[in-house]
Amino acid sequence: MMHDQQLGSTSTFDYVVVGTGAAGSIVSARLSEDPAVTVCALESGPPDRHPYIHIPAGFIKIIFNDAYTWQFKTEPSPTVNGRSVIIPVGRTVGGSSSINGMIINRGQADDFNSWAQRGNAGWGYADLLPYFKRFERRIGEGDSLYRGRDGNIPVTDLDWQHEICEAFISGATGLGIPRNPDYNGASQPGVGYLQRCIHRGLRRSAGRMYLVPALKKSGQIDLRTHARAFKVVFDGKKAVAVRYVDERSRTVHEVKVRKEVIVSGGTINSPRLLQLSGVGSGSLLKSLGVEVVHDLPAVGENFRDHCSVRLVARAKNSKTINEITRGPALIGQILRWLTGRPSVIAVSPSLCYCFWKSDPNISGADLQLVFSPASYKNGFVGMLDDYPGMSCGVWQHRPESIGYVRAKTTDIFVDPAIQPNYLSHEADQRALVSGIALARRLLRTPQLSRFVDCETFPGDSVRTDDEVLQWARQHVGTVWHLIGTCRMGPATDKSSVVGDELKVHGLQSLRVIDASVMPSMPSANTYSATMVIAEKGSDLIRGKAAPAPAALPA
Ligand SMILES: Cc1cc2nc3c(=O)[nH]c(=O)nc-3n(C[C@H](O)[C@H](O)[C@H](O)COP(=O)(O)OP(=O)(O)OC[C@H]3O[C@@H](n4cnc5c(N)ncnc54)[C@H](O)[C@@H]3O)c2cc1C
Repeated sequence: MMHDQQLGSTSTFDYVVVGTGAAGSIVSARLSEDPAVTVCALESGPPDRHPYIHIPAGFIKIIFNDAYTWQFKTEPSPTVNGRSVIIPVGRTVGGSSSINGMIINRGQADDFNSWAQRGNAGWGYADLLPYFKRFERRIGEGDSLYRGRDGNIPVTDLDWQHEICEAFISGATGLGIPRNPDYNGASQPGVGYLQRCIHRGLRRSAGRMYLVPALKKSGQIDLRTHARAFKVVFDGKKAVAVRYVDERSRTVHEVKVRKEVIVSGGTINSPRLLQLSGVGSGSLLKSLGVEVVHDLPAVGENFRDHCSVRLVARAKNSKTINEITRGPALIGQILRWLTGRPSVIAVSPSLCYCFWKSDPNISGADLQLVFSPASYKNGFVGMLDDYPGMSCGVWQHRPESIGYVRAKTTDIFVDPAIQPNYLSHEADQRALVSGIALARRLLRTPQLSRFVDCETFPGDSVRTDDEVLQWARQHVGTVWHLIGTCRMGPATDKSSVVGDELKVHGLQSLRVIDASVMPSMPSANTYSATMVIAEKGSDLIRGKAAPAPAALPA
């Protein structure tokens, strides 16, 4: 096998960071703030030069481009009528932050308090709030208790208006859902416009806002793109090096570490790399023929994702994104974008949110709905439909369905088995059916009805709860919020992989810092929480004292 080739080169650094995604870009940049430290950052994908990465509307193209993404596929599952679901993940500098929907959403204080309650000291919301503030440069309104003004990632409000969005919001308030001035502030529930990491018409990824400036400034980071890590090398229980394949020359190289290896490959790739390195369930490793370095059964388990469906309605009495992005209208929008004026070219795929309840007895919100004046084929974001329309996506904040990621072979070029078991838990089925009913109510408010010709997906033939659930099983897809496969928890918690310092249990000089360590799903898209993990993880590596917890109102 190629991985057994002779080494093409060896080199030595203080740290190796595997993956330059949302987390890896931040960790590499923060470590390089110490002038004496050297970092080797390995990225499987190419540099992030493609224009569709940086132009926000390029989202709908770049997520299908296999040069810049991992096009993973889930194992077929009876819970989604035997289907495989495609899961695109970023594979370039910035990782998924270079291809994501650019929504900045923290979640709720209770999400993080539950992390602390699982035995993770320093991971409650008051502890993490200084890190939420640290990564962001909020441009727009926001209470300074909650919002940061000096961080690397600009967080802006939508500057492109559309009458259908206004009608969606006023229709929701008519249903008794309050308009929330800042869902990233004191509380989340309500309706309004989404905040985005788009500034001056461009996506602001973690790659561009952390790693690239650090590369230019310090000279201490050696960024190696096209470098796919396939093994962490151990001396006994201590991580001492990483081996990777150069994807262009197919030669094998080794990078030795003086201090630590940091795995930031994301929720699918990080556990897979650990498994191929001999860290994982003993029986899985034996079946793969991998020598067991450390038997850690939770590696790759506890996988969770938000699965969603998008309802679509045909629009009338207005021009939607479907028409605005075609022909002469598109040229007009491009000209507006080029001259720095509000344009559809610089919007995120979802424009409005509604955080609300699947059951009136729930305090807070357990559902996320997202809305845009655009219709997508079969509700699949990325494929604009031929007719004018609008769509409303819905998912449950904290899914109970649990799956896994398990390597299938020792070949790093063969995708692992990914099984999310979407909608396997009854609570998830109930919440989604109720969320779809809410989405329908929102599409039928008097304010929005003026613009709705008819619901096209699923359409009126799908009525009863059983029919709705069956439709959902047939059409749910990922919203790309993958977490949990290297779960954080005390060593006594057998479902965990890393402790609260993000060190892998039972091993030395090895941490995992990315979305995979989240113990449970935040009530949010996962980019913000990932950046917090990376900011805090960097402090932990550097031995920096944690900032004082925020003084939150009781
Ligand atoms: C299409 C899409 C849309 C999304 N939309 C939003 C949104 O709007 N808002 C939000 O909050 N969240 C969103 N997310 C989720 C968010 O982007 C992720 O939660 C976050 O990026 C996870 O960060 P990470 O560092 O764990 O992994 P990633 O950002 O995925 O980075 C992992 C990096 O490691 C590299 N890598 C992996 N394995 C190896 C290896 N063996 N060797 C070398 N390099 C390797 C990968 O190529 C990648 O660059 C979206 C995600 C996707 C994919």
